[in-house]
Amino acid sequence: MTLKTAIVTGAARGIGLATTRLFLAQGWRVAMIDRDTSALKDAAKGLDGAHAVACDVSVPDQVDAMVQQVLDHFGRMDALVNNAGIADFRSLADTDFAIWRQVMAVNLDGVFLTSQAVIPHLKQRGGAIVNIASISGLRASTLRVAYGTSKAAVIQLTGQQAAELGEWGIRANCVAPGPVDTKLALAVHSPEIRAAYHDAIPLNRYGTEFEIAEVITFLCSDRASYVTGQTIAVDGGFDAVGVGLP
Ligand code: NAD
Repeated sequence: MTLKTAIVTGAARGIGLATTRLFLAQGWRVAMIDRDTSALKDAAKGLDGAHAVACDVSVPDQVDAMVQQVLDHFGRMDALVNNAGIADFRSLADTDFAIWRQVMAVNLDGVFLTSQAVIPHLKQRGGAIVNIASISGLRASTLRVAYGTSKAAVIQLTGQQAAELGEWGIRANCVAPGPVDTKLALAVHSPEIRAAYHDAIPLNRYGTEFEIAEVITFLCSDRASYVTGQTIAVDGGFDAVGVGLP
């Protein structure tokens, strides 16, 4: 039996690493992509069926070279998880243009470039794309001008992909996680933000990387064969209750 292959960006830690582990447990092979070369090497150690490729998803030449390396190694690709991302919690007034550009380059350009490079290969036998947005892309706040805007754009880009790629049997969906205790969240969630999230989330806690990965791998699988163009908030109920972002 030919095993399916997924490309997971931002796979060296956090949600991307959990997604890699879950794919492997479900019998997939995984191309682990990250720009942090040493963390990537450590993360891939001992993971049977995984192949690590260093790449900054915001750099077009690196993305093209990465896709070629994945093809050379696995010979096929069936799913793309656009997970690599960076966070910045600042107001409009406090966000320098350089920071704005940096966030857009990784969170939005990275999804665009990687998708564009992978899609011709997905078209050969159909497949799935899952883009990782955030509840910050669903709600406005005073603190996330670049991050929230980049994630809202990822949600729209997902719809564009679903509309354009359905005729090739390619599904595109988006996962919008609530807060998860990863390095990214630890860097931007102050004690006040943490406390406010705990109060605002009906399940009264942060999510885990594996709770997000479960939904990502489901959306990539044939079990989700009639699901496309959707954004699924995996957020302990935060989006449903309509409280503002802390
Ligand atoms: P993380 O910081 O733990 O992991 C992100 C990984 O992406 C890192 O290994 C990093 O090296 C890699 N990366 C960053 N920029 C890259 C680039 N240009 N090219 C290649 N790799 C790059 O973060 P995480 O919490 O696991 O976040 C994963 C995704 O989930 C992000 O898109 C993030 O915005 C989203 N998200 C996270 C949370 C949360 O609370 N943790 C909430 C909502 C959405």
